Amino acid sequence: MESATKRYSHIMTHTIIIVEDNEINMMLFNDLLQSRGYETLQSFDGMDILDLARKHQPDLIIMDIQLPVKSGLEHTKALKADDELKDIPVLVVTAFTMQGDKERMIEFGCNGYLYKPISVPLFLESVAQHISRPESIVPHKYSHT
Ligand code: MN
Repeated sequence: MESATKRYSHIMTHTIIIVEDNEINMMLFNDLLQSRGYETLQSFDGMDILDLARKHQPDLIIMDIQLPVKSGLEHTKALKADDELKDIPVLVVTAFTMQGDKERMIEFGCNGYLYKPISVPLFLESVAQHISRPESIVPHKYSHT
């Protein structure tokens, strides 16, 4: 019975891992997602992302690029190189991109990206889209000019 209960709760709840080193942004993303009923897990440097993802099988990973030890792009590359984890959609949320970052985002298998400061409705819409259609990559829709 326990496994049936777990399976049921898994269907009802989506889990999202947030990788973000800025505490204000982490709190913002976390509170927004929880207010919409998502379960959240937090990583401030992403160094535990492979273990977290394996353990919790999230429906989505929200990934900052500028992180203290390794960049979010490197973490994404590692996730996408792992057969068990590669299908988890990764939504990059970043303040700015360096030369070549956009190309690397696609090359490394990021499923989409948003710029900070985020638009709250766009953020929530994008999260919902990536959870329901993880393979869609629509980077230009979310670019600001
Ligand atoms: Mn950062």
